[in-house]
Amino acid sequence: MTLFKKIKLFFKPTPLPKIIGECLRRGKCCQNIILVDKYDKPIKTKWAFKKLVEQIPLYHIFEPHHKDSIFGYYYFKCSKLGNDNLCTIHDNRPTICAKYPEPEMIRDGGELLPGCGYHAVPKIEFSEILDKELK
Ligand code: SF4
Repeated sequence: MTLFKKIKLFFKPTPLPKIIGECLRRGKCCQNIILVDKYDKPIKTKWAFKKLVEQIPLYHIFEPHHKDSIFGYYYFKCSKLGNDNLCTIHDNRPTICAKYPEPEMIRDGGELLPGCGYHAVPKIEFSEILDKELK
């Protein structure tokens, strides 16, 4: 492989995975939400959460319940999750809920919760990429 090809490969954006599966209505994702600010930084303080609610008033439905022991960001639970694990404001839910799980989240290192009915699969198999790049 030429040096040019190696450099091009290094800077090539990671392809987005494909999300397959379906929601199993366990409600876990609605009880373990990591919120981010406008710079995509996870919310770590009550002050940052207050600022976020000022920007997106609908986020008042979320409540911080514990902090990640390593990274210090909050996990939030949603007050709109029904006892049957269904969303009680489904038609008016926040965009982050409607888009979950986003392929970008997985590409950027996020993980689906254990037992989630969704799965992320690479759009292109690693062996395919390798074969193509070695040609
Ligand atoms: S608004 Fe609905 S979908 Fe979003 S976290 Fe709350 S219960 Fe879950």
